Amino acid sequence: MASDTLLVSGGRVLRPDSDVVEADVLVDREDGRIVEIGPDLATDRDADETLDASGGIVMPGLVNAHTHAAMTLLRGYADDKPLDAWLREDIWPAEAELTAEDVRAGTELGLVEMIRSGTTTFADMYFHVPEVVAAVDEAGMRARVGHGVVTVGKDEEAARADVRESLDVAREYDGAADGRIRTAVMPHSLTTVDEPLLREAVAEAHADGIPVHTHANETRDEVEPIVAERSERPLAYADDVGLLSEADFLAHGVHVDETEIDLLAEREAAVVHCPASNMKLASGIAPVQDLLDAGVTVALGTDGAASNNDLDLFDELRDAAMLGKLGADDASAVPAEAAVTMATRGGAEALSLPGGRVEVGAAADLAVVDFDAPHLAPAHDPVSHLAYAVRGSDVRHTICDGQVLMRDREILTLDEDEVVETARRRAVDLVARAE
Ligand SMILES: [Zn+2]
Repeated sequence: MASDTLLVSGGRVLRPDSDVVEADVLVDREDGRIVEIGPDLATDRDADETLDASGGIVMPGLVNAHTHAAMTLLRGYADDKPLDAWLREDIWPAEAELTAEDVRAGTELGLVEMIRSGTTTFADMYFHVPEVVAAVDEAGMRARVGHGVVTVGKDEEAARADVRESLDVAREYDGAADGRIRTAVMPHSLTTVDEPLLREAVAEAHADGIPVHTHANETRDEVEPIVAERSERPLAYADDVGLLSEADFLAHGVHVDETEIDLLAEREAAVVHCPASNMKLASGIAPVQDLLDAGVTVALGTDGAASNNDLDLFDELRDAAMLGKLGADDASAVPAEAAVTMATRGGAEALSLPGGRVEVGAAADLAVVDFDAPHLAPAHDPVSHLAYAVRGSDVRHTICDGQVLMRDREILTLDEDEVVETARRRAVDLVARAE
């Protein structure tokens, strides 16, 4: 028996095959892994720490595979505009005023919100990455982080410096926080980074075994200029610059045609579907069922809080299942089980991070969801509820890498009141400077 153990007892466990079985889960807190799953482990084990999961579902911690966590500071700051105008008129001018302290505060607010709603793992594209790393380390979450590069509108020297920073932070922080933090090089998109620098960044990242994360095929306005200029689809261009390798992951993939879906499947690059952001910015409907049918790994992301406007991945699950049906004109498309898989195992696979499954030997990244609320009665099918009816506020406990981050809805690793108050104050100052 492991020496330092956590027992999650009395719940029902969502297994990787989507079966839900009554079982306890025993975790080795030292190496952060699940060591045993079975009925009544409580009766013959004397665990160092016990979490009561009775009446609840023990599921893999959710994976938010695309966000900009610090954008919580701009939640509700600018709404109801298309992507291009929203970025140029509101978001980029405000972001130009961001300090390192702002990013720390906004990120911590994002982490509090994610832990509260059962997310243990996320991918973050932003600036002031050392602040993001420090926040993730303190919060106890798992993340793949990177510095977002934009070179358009910059002179050669500034553009090169931006690429350099993305490579430098990716090398420096890979493996930080006892290995819970991994990194990626993150060119913002195929249209906001010039081709020679994009090629260089991708080649250097891959030479060091670092994956690349970018926004791709998000809006028609982004796809059309690439097709007009290059006479090829955006993902053919992405493939040509080398960024569709197996470890790479692309946010959005809304406007992808059949040839691009085949290319993604062949290269084994993953897509992070962000349904709420795509709806809010009227970007379009990603062909999620077609991607799944082709064998593409699909994960879910909230995108930043300014285009969502929350970081509750249960919302995203529901949106993905609903929008997938609307997009396919088929009520059987993106069924509940597929949506839950995208939010868990799909995310872990897209980010090449541990977690995403409750099984012996897997990382102990778990969420315990209460099932006693009126909106979850009766519970004919727990997987249906996880996709269609559960809210982030139903999460009772959150565990990452064997450590309890939230117990009985109380966050243990961050001072929630202080985080919220600091973020509120900094957001008001930030907006005043931007205006
Ligand atoms: Zn994004």
